[in-house]
This record gives sequence, C-alpha cells and structure tokens, in this order.
Amino acid sequence: MPAAADWSLDPRVRSLFKYLPLPIKLPTPLRRGDPSTAERPLGDTRAVVTRLQTPADLAVCARLALHGASVTVLDPLAAAASLAELAILGVRHAPWTMDLASVLANSAARQDRRPLLLVHRLAATPAGATAVNTATDELFQVGQAVASAPRNSRLLILADAPASDDVAGRLSLEAAHGCIRSLFKELGPSGSTCHLLRLDGASADAVAETVAFLVGPRGVFLTAWDVRLGPDIGRDSTWSGKVVLVTGAARGIGASIAARLAKAGATVWVNDVPQAEEAARKTAERLGGNAFVVPADCSSDSGAKAIAKALASGGRLDAVIHNAGITRDRTLKRLSLEQWRQVLSVDLASMVRVQEAVQPLMTQGGSLVLMSSVMGVAGNFGQTNYTAAKAAVLELARIWAESQAAQGIRANAIAPGFILTEMTAHMPLFNKEMAKQLTALLQPGLPEDVAELAAFLAGSESRAITGQVLRCDGGMFLGA
Ligand code: NAD
Repeated sequence: MPAAADWSLDPRVRSLFKYLPLPIKLPTPLRRGDPSTAERPLGDTRAVVTRLQTPADLAVCARLALHGASVTVLDPLAAAASLAELAILGVRHAPWTMDLASVLANSAARQDRRPLLLVHRLAATPAGATAVNTATDELFQVGQAVASAPRNSRLLILADAPASDDVAGRLSLEAAHGCIRSLFKELGPSGSTCHLLRLDGASADAVAETVAFLVGPRGVFLTAWDVRLGPDIGRDSTWSGKVVLVTGAARGIGASIAARLAKAGATVWVNDVPQAEEAARKTAERLGGNAFVVPADCSSDSGAKAIAKALASGGRLDAVIHNAGITRDRTLKRLSLEQWRQVLSVDLASMVRVQEAVQPLMTQGGSLVLMSSVMGVAGNFGQTNYTAAKAAVLELARIWAESQAAQGIRANAIAPGFILTEMTAHMPLFNKEMAKQLTALLQPGLPEDVAELAAFLAGSESRAITGQVLRCDGGMFLGA
C-alpha cells in the first residue's frame, strides 16, 4: 500500500506550522501497512482487554496476541483456565482497577510510546441507577486512557445486545454510543480512532476477526463505527477459486478493490464502460492472470445482460462490488432532467439491474458490497441527484441483507468520505481543504483504504456483518 506521503510532513515543517497563526490543523500520518506481507501486523502495539468472561473476549485476546500485540487482561474474575490458555501466547494478567487511566499513565506505561489498543467490554449490568453509574464511570476511564495514549491508538467498546427490559444495559450502551460519537472527533488529530461493536449472536471468532481488522493497519481510516455483529453467515475463508465482479473498476476505488481481491487469490471480473475498455484492460493486466475484462454500461439492460453472459462462462459468482458511480453536480434549479437521470441510473438503478442479471450465478452464498457515500447519509449542496441515489443505496443494502440471508448472501453499504481519486481531483482547492478540516483525521483517504474495507466485507472475516452502513471517511463530521 502506498505511503500517505502527502500528509506526513517533515517534523521540522510540522513544528514550524504549529507556531504560525494559521487556522489549519495538521494531520498525524497514519500507520498503513501491507497485511498480506506483515506476519505480525500488531507487533509494535500494546493491547489492554478489560474483561475476560466470554468466549469472544478469549478469542479477541488470542487474536491480538497472535498478531503480535503485547496483551494485558485486566479482570480479577477471569477464569484461571482461560488465563492459562492465554499465558501460552504471552498474554499477561493484571488486577482490575477502576482507575484505568492512572494504570496506563504510571511511570512504566508513560515511557511506553507504542500505540495502545484498548478493548473494553461493557459489563453486564444489574438493574438500577447505580449500575448505570458504574458502567458510565468505566466509560470515562477507558475514554480518558485512549485520549492520553500515544498517537494511532484505538478504543473498541464491545457490548452484548441488552434485552428489551434491561433498562440499565440499554442506557449504558447508548451512553457508550453517544460518547464514541464525540470522542472520535477529539482523537482524530492524533490519528487515534474508536468504535462500538454491538454483539448480537456473532461467533467468538467472527468478533475477534472484526476487532483485528479494525485495530490493524487495514483499518486506519475507519473511525466511529457503530456496528451490529449478528449470527454468522457463511464461513469459508479462502479466496482461491472464488469469483468476484467489480463494476466501474477501470480506475479509482474500483481498480484498487479489484487489485486487492486479485492479490487475495480471487478471480476478478473488471467491468467498466466500453469507452474505458483500454484502461480496464491495463488494470486487469496489472492484476495478472486472475483478471478478466467485461466492457459494458452497467446502467443499461443490455450492459447488465452482457456482464451476466460473460460471467456465466465461469459458472459461479461469490461477491459483487457494485462500485460504478458518476457525479453531475449542480443545484437542483440548474440541473437538467438528463443529468438527474444519468446519476440515478448509474449510481442506483444499475445495482438492481446487474444484481438481477447475475443472481442465478450466486448459488453458493456470498457477499454484496454497495458503494454509497457519506453524502448519501448527510446530504450536500449541489448534489441532490447524487445524494438521492446514494441514500437509496443504503436502503438497498438493508433490503438485500434481509431478502438474501436465506441464500447465505450478505449485503452491506460502504459510505466513503473524501477519497483521493479522479472523481475528487477536480474539486476546488478550498473545498478539498474544507473536507480535510471537517474530517477527524484531518486528511483524505486513499482508494486502498476503501479497497481494504471492501475486501473485508466481501470475505468471510465479516461474516457477522450484514445490512449495515460502514463509513470509510476518517471521521467526517457530516452526518455523524
Ligand atoms: P472514478 O470516477 O474515479 O471511477 C468510477 C468508475 O466507474 C470509472 O472508471 C467510470 O468509467 C466507471 N463507470 C461510470 N459509469 C459506469 C457505467 N455506467 N458502467 C460501468 N462503469 C461505469 O470514481 P471513484 O472515486 O473511484 O468512485 C467509485 C465509487 O465510490 C463511486 O460509486 C463513487 O460515487 C463512490 N464514492 C467516491 C468518493 C470519493 O471521494 N472518491 C466518495 C464517496 C463515494
């Protein structure tokens, strides 16, 4: 993955900027890495897990340790057998203390400049106001610990979905949600992030894999997720022998997704409009023998049929990344019906057309990834056509998640924020700077950031996630 060179300023320039009276905040360089070559992607981090009481807690600790983090469990109630199991992986155990911030700020911890990965499980709460106070006090402690930790730290709050009559549990959970929605804005300038995972039937391994993804080098541009992990759908983790279609993949985000999936071992169909066939061929060539080109306008019936006909030769289809998109920005008053229709056809209706055409090939379960936008969540001046399409895409992901679950197919929408591609290259400089300043991490994402998320959602690591909207936006304040 390319280094984010544009955003990692020389430290001398950085300190000069600090003293200039400019209203420009500088970003912290993100620690991207190539997970396929890194054996221990968390090798230079320390992790603290606040409870060890469920199989998911155990799986999270084991996964973080296997990925190289030095892990400490803070829980006096932890079962000796579980601790012994984890000790083999080098996981340490420390007594529980409510004053977590001071534990992490003691002299030894202060000298440790490694990023902190703090996984906090909300306690199962007994009824009553005191329980709410206990849970929210803990929230304060873990939040402060991460806020005062070194750059690029992470806070993940795990919470079991409370029963509908569990008032204290529901209040504690929503307090955590509210806290995350503000905290990510405070953490962003130092490259740190936070998330809330609602555990609602997911297997222990699926929880651990999601945690590892979010805290590792593939999740650096993700923050403030509030995501439900439900019962697993599908299990097969290998990409070898699997077939994926990526629409609009000649360049930009689509090309990055195609590259990421081909590298993982999938056979990739690169679709783009016939006018971009040459670019699509070059993209496919870069992917090696595992890639094929299918030039077709995915917004037309004939294009969708051509895609299905080409893919039928392979006999199977495991994932579709509905990525093709265009913009025709103008205020609604000045927009033509033609421009309105173009965007709605490519950015929304094409997904339905293509999916209907290729659905018969998805006989062995799989995953659908739909490209929306933060603008589909928040709306934007001069983009009524684009935001109409992208908002409906969010609903389409929910509809397909429901209707396709029985066939073992999951569906999720990605909402990218400001990503550096040709689509955004033509934005006025002022708008680009505004977009950065309105992003908690103070920088745009790379197509590779979206590609990592798309690959995660297309594959079995995310088997507990369906019908969700996952932002890939560095913490954009819009709609958050
Ligand atoms: P891009 O313009 O660089 O690439 C889009 C690709 O889609 C192009 O290759 C284009 O030829 C292709 N395409 C357009 N119409 C098509 C059609 N009818 N059939 C087949 N292919 C078609 O854009 P990008 O920045 O890579 O964006 C990819 C997706 O991500 C889009 O859906 C976009 O709306 C979404 N998105 C991008 C950003 C961003 O900041 N770049 C932010 C939010 C959402």
